[in-house]
Amino acid sequence: MADYDLAVIGGGLNGVSIARDAAGRGLRVILFEQGDLGGGASSASSRLIHGDLAMLERRGFLRVRRALAERRSWLRIAPHLVRPMRFVIPAHADERAPWLVRAGLLLYDRLGQDDGLPQSETIDITHHPVGFALKRPFGTAFEYSDCLVDDSRLVALTAMDAAERGAVIRTGARCVRADRDDSWRLAIIDRGHRKVITARALANACGAWVPIVAETVLRMPPPATGVMQMSQIIVRRLFDTDTVYVFQNNDGRLIFASPYERDFTLIGTAVHPFKGDPAIVATSAGDVAYLCEAANRYFRERVEPSDVVRTLSGANLALDPNRRVGRDGGISFDAKRRRAPLITIHGGDVTTSRLRAERAVSRLLPFYPMSRRWTAGAPMPGGDFDWHRFDAEVEAARDRWDFLSEAQAQRLVAAYGTRLTAVLGDARSRADLGPAFGPELTGAEVRYLMQREWARFADDVLWRRSRLGLTMPPADRDALVAFMASAM
Ligand SMILES: Cc1cc2nc3c(=O)[nH]c(=O)nc-3n(C[C@H](O)[C@H](O)[C@H](O)COP(=O)(O)OP(=O)(O)OC[C@H]3O[C@@H](n4cnc5c(N)ncnc54)[C@H](O)[C@@H]3O)c2cc1C
Repeated sequence: MADYDLAVIGGGLNGVSIARDAAGRGLRVILFEQGDLGGGASSASSRLIHGDLAMLERRGFLRVRRALAERRSWLRIAPHLVRPMRFVIPAHADERAPWLVRAGLLLYDRLGQDDGLPQSETIDITHHPVGFALKRPFGTAFEYSDCLVDDSRLVALTAMDAAERGAVIRTGARCVRADRDDSWRLAIIDRGHRKVITARALANACGAWVPIVAETVLRMPPPATGVMQMSQIIVRRLFDTDTVYVFQNNDGRLIFASPYERDFTLIGTAVHPFKGDPAIVATSAGDVAYLCEAANRYFRERVEPSDVVRTLSGANLALDPNRRVGRDGGISFDAKRRRAPLITIHGGDVTTSRLRAERAVSRLLPFYPMSRRWTAGAPMPGGDFDWHRFDAEVEAARDRWDFLSEAQAQRLVAAYGTRLTAVLGDARSRADLGPAFGPELTGAEVRYLMQREWARFADDVLWRRSRLGLTMPPADRDALVAFMASAM
């Protein structure tokens, strides 16, 4: 008998979502991630949980409706990680006609009805707070609802849920060879040690690495798809409102500027084809200049390349509507007689990742008995509260741990939800939480991340389990490295 029912290669959002779904349906699952969970595109996204307004122009009504239904599910199952936001499109004379934008938003409201988010509006921003950060000529704007998500924490908590339902999650474990018979025989380099396991089915969920893994690990013809690089910049906060600005750039692309970790603004994306190893994708000076220029068409405060505090880029499989690989991604399923099944995930976005995993795992139904679809209604770890009660959760955290500032409590509840108790325990003062690294991070939180969320290195903690790397002084970073080495 094979060691596992399903082996998953790739610990990005697609891989962990498949592991969660399958483990919850009773399969014996193992997942291999060569680096850290979310170390690929899944920690570099624009963080939008959205129906994709631009898709309406391409008449993708069903896709928009499906994505908006997923938005509703995310609010229900991950109320700590997913935050409803108001998105603002300033009307620009050179771009889409205002009536067209308004009509699109009315349709968007209709497709997303019943989720309790405020409807769209036309607003005069001449004297409105959302207009303060913008250049003078903007008098009218359109406001609508969508959500932002903490993408890399979503990966970690999905993996945690999978593990709590029995999945084995191995990070630092690279799959180097897969031989197919009536089951799969996988060779893994697991933290320097070669291991072999067998599984009845395999999922290739390696994002931009899918073609490389198909060719070099599975030794099969790679799928005929290109890879795109997408890049973003992070600058000091450009506006005070809790708003995501959507700019219609002069090349027709939508540019998003969103609040990022309290003190920063994330601006993206620049997109172009990519060749090479997705692990070394990096933002070019040209992409930085493009994004600064796009922001400068709208914001009053100028953004220069020298203002960029960090860039964020990732590689994704090309989304080619002609090949029917849209933002929902594609799933291919290969199951010949007497040959173990293979699922390949061809990209796809954060918003529809849960549904994609559900569909992918359901393809295995003829092979195994498994329980029913379940992920749309089951809260992620720490997400067992109503999203309307987020502020009440923050208040309750401040009552229980009265040494927390409002901002600290907000960050911690957004990261851990009701699992915050497991992080802070019965601490009565900040000193009870061990050494401090930078203004926010404590030894207790780092230990929790190492024990429960697979954090191994300082970068895992600073750039994926949190984004505290943005405010971490270099000396404290060094202290964190030493602390984690001693806690291993
Ligand atoms: C800049 C950018 C912005 C985006 N913005 C949005 C957005 O706003 N909203 C939205 O919904 N979507 C967005 N997306 C899309 C979304 O982020 C990705 O489609 C999604 O995260 C892809 O997840 P994945 O699991 O397929 O790939 P990845 O996250 O890249 O994961 C693949 C994993 O496979 C691992 N791997 C590869 N080879 C091996 C091997 N041999 N053995 C073991 N492990 C291996 C890699 O290390 C990697 O961690 C954006 C993408 C980018 C790049």
